[in-house]
Amino acid sequence: MVSNNKPATIGELKASGYRTRPLRQEMRHNLIEMIKSGKEIFPGIIGYSQSVIPQIENALISGQDIIFLGERGQAKSRLMRDLINLLDEYIPVIKGCEINDNPFSPICKRCRELVNEKGDATEISWLSRDERFGEKLATPDVTVGDLIGDVDPIKVAEGRYLSDELTIHYGLIPRTNRGIFAINELPDLAERIQVGLFNLMEEQDIQIRGYRVRLPLDVFLVASANPEDYTNRGRIITPLKDRYGAQVRTHYPMTTGEEISIMEAERRKFTDDEIEIYVPQFMKDIVAEITHLARQSPDINQSSGVSVRVSIANYETVISNAVRRAVILKEKIAVPRVSDLPYIHASTDGKIEMEGSFDDAKNPNIIDTFIEKAIQKVFNRYCQLSMLDPVVVLFQKGLSVEVSEMLHSQFYLDMIKKIPGIERPLKNLNKTESPEVNASALEFILEGLYTNKRVSKTRLPNKRVYGHKDEHI
Ligand SMILES: [Zn+2]
Repeated sequence: MVSNNKPATIGELKASGYRTRPLRQEMRHNLIEMIKSGKEIFPGIIGYSQSVIPQIENALISGQDIIFLGERGQAKSRLMRDLINLLDEYIPVIKGCEINDNPFSPICKRCRELVNEKGDATEISWLSRDERFGEKLATPDVTVGDLIGDVDPIKVAEGRYLSDELTIHYGLIPRTNRGIFAINELPDLAERIQVGLFNLMEEQDIQIRGYRVRLPLDVFLVASANPEDYTNRGRIITPLKDRYGAQVRTHYPMTTGEEISIMEAERRKFTDDEIEIYVPQFMKDIVAEITHLARQSPDINQSSGVSVRVSIANYETVISNAVRRAVILKEKIAVPRVSDLPYIHASTDGKIEMEGSFDDAKNPNIIDTFIEKAIQKVFNRYCQLSMLDPVVVLFQKGLSVEVSEMLHSQFYLDMIKKIPGIERPLKNLNKTESPEVNASALEFILEGLYTNKRVSKTRLPNKRVYGHKDEHI
């Protein structure tokens, strides 16, 4: 809502003493004010405070356009969108202008004529910061018309000459004048569009069907690209590359702790959920660890990357399987277990690319390897194997335990009674008395023993049986 006492004409705006300022100066000023007052410029962005954000701030203080280079799922789009936090809440524009003209120095022909005619009585309106952001995903079929502009055939039919600026139908970038325009995956733009973009940024003119029209737009251009596509010779025309003042490299979360914070913040939450959800810390660690293992794997295409969206979607998946179980078994709390993890194939397979020699048929095995390795790594962080020696002895003496994703938590409590010596390790993992959490902790210990080759595991349809590990194998 714009307050009613804001100036409504150029005359009123002058009388109020309002001064318009160039976009980069506005962003720079607001950035410095935010730094002074300790306000967050990129709220909710985790893990970039010492690396990416200082570089963005330097670019903004320099008034440089930015290109973000990074693999998929490194919050590049979000960083670009969050730049609107650096804009004034509202700015005045000439009312009805297609390109948000500055009331004190209009650049489009319509507004220049309007101001000549009406002077101080020219009406203005106020544009909010949310309205000053435009974006486009670059694809090879994006046209000059989409981004920059085209001749409007209707206006030509009305008898205007092609050279008349009023026949132009403005594209997305002029319509974002005095705002921020983001281009995702810049290298996918056709070369002639890149040339058009360069002319607009550098020469401040647009060329449409052979006509040159001077258009000194004030747009902050920001773009994103995959580093490999960007550095590939021939994908980006050199003058455009030179034009971007700052190249900022994004990265994946450095620690699983940061990965988990992002998973928690970004997972989709439903406010009307009747079922209580509880995720033990070790399950969060496993989900984050799976992604970190995938990011180090030579079997995965690392130049394309493994997005944090893999972690977020996998986290949602294991929680959902727990919710489904709680509903089916009429349990009180939904607590993810190790046996829910195979379901992450659905949320992982489409988001990662295998390296050339691997075909899709082998994907499941690779993901399953990550799951097992992640469990082992997390287990060895939480549990001391030697503490579980008495339990291993019981298995050697013939103990066998069956678990399943659809097995009622109460059954796990019965199992625990049959395994003296497991109480303490269980208590270390789980301080609650809840059967659901105990079930999850027991599955984690059993699988941890298996991944450390202390017990055997047999996979049967819908269940796993842990038993005696044959020493000779
Ligand atoms: Zn205008």
